[in-house]
Amino acid sequence: MPELPELDVLAENLAARLAGARVAAVRVVSVAALKTFDPPIDSLAGLAITGAGRRAKYVWLELGELFLVMHLSLGGRLALGPKPASRKVAVLTVELDDGRVLSMTEGGTQRRAAVWLVDDVEKVPPLAGLGPEPLDPGFTTARLAAILAEGGHTLKGMLTDQRAMAGVGNAWSDDVLHRARMSPFARPERLDQAEVERLHAALVGVLTEARAALAQQVGDEVVIPKASERLFAVHARAGAACFVCGDTIRSVWMGDRETSYCPTCQTGGRILADRRRSRFLR
Ligand SMILES: [Zn+2]
Repeated sequence: MPELPELDVLAENLAARLAGARVAAVRVVSVAALKTFDPPIDSLAGLAITGAGRRAKYVWLELGELFLVMHLSLGGRLALGPKPASRKVAVLTVELDDGRVLSMTEGGTQRRAAVWLVDDVEKVPPLAGLGPEPLDPGFTTARLAAILAEGGHTLKGMLTDQRAMAGVGNAWSDDVLHRARMSPFARPERLDQAEVERLHAALVGVLTEARAALAQQVGDEVVIPKASERLFAVHARAGAACFVCGDTIRSVWMGDRETSYCPTCQTGGRILADRRRSRFLR
């Protein structure tokens, strides 16, 4: 699942490659994916693309006063080329007057991709009630402290809860916790001021560096970058050696998600026990 760094790179490249182009036609191939009817999708024809943006795990094209907001679910992709994507995978295609076509596709059997045409991105229902963006200038240490004080989660659960903080998922939260030298099971409300500052610096540092590395990886291509394993410090590296201390990286299950961590760097050497829900135990 792409997170903040991947989708920021996608949005930046959408803006760089498409700004100034005019829409010739929009075709909705998967009717169920279109969640809005007013304004009608055909009202995009003739409009110029003025930019692109992202909030949480949603990206959009700006066309003057209108926003074409897209949620690329697990198998979702965007592609820019001379031809529309095959109807088997296409969700929506945007034909431009210069001959290029932007295709939104969804592979696999799940059909969860969604599209909204709105005059205000806040009108997209899943975007209401989301937490702040950790790379926004307004995301200060005090703001993070207020989120942590609400508790009710493990630290890992809080970082990945989109209502607490938007854009961070299972992958980059592992590396943020490793950089901050904190256990994924730590209680957020028990962090002291120095720890809050360390976590804030880790969030900003890891996400900013990830975005830069991913941008370099894909250049100006309109794709969701896929972070290679070498970009991660601990995520998806269980069994390998920690770059910082040389200890073996471990993984632990929290519910249905696997979390990677370094015992020496993060838990005082302690091996964490799975917190996995089991259907077989009562
Ligand atoms: Zn380590």
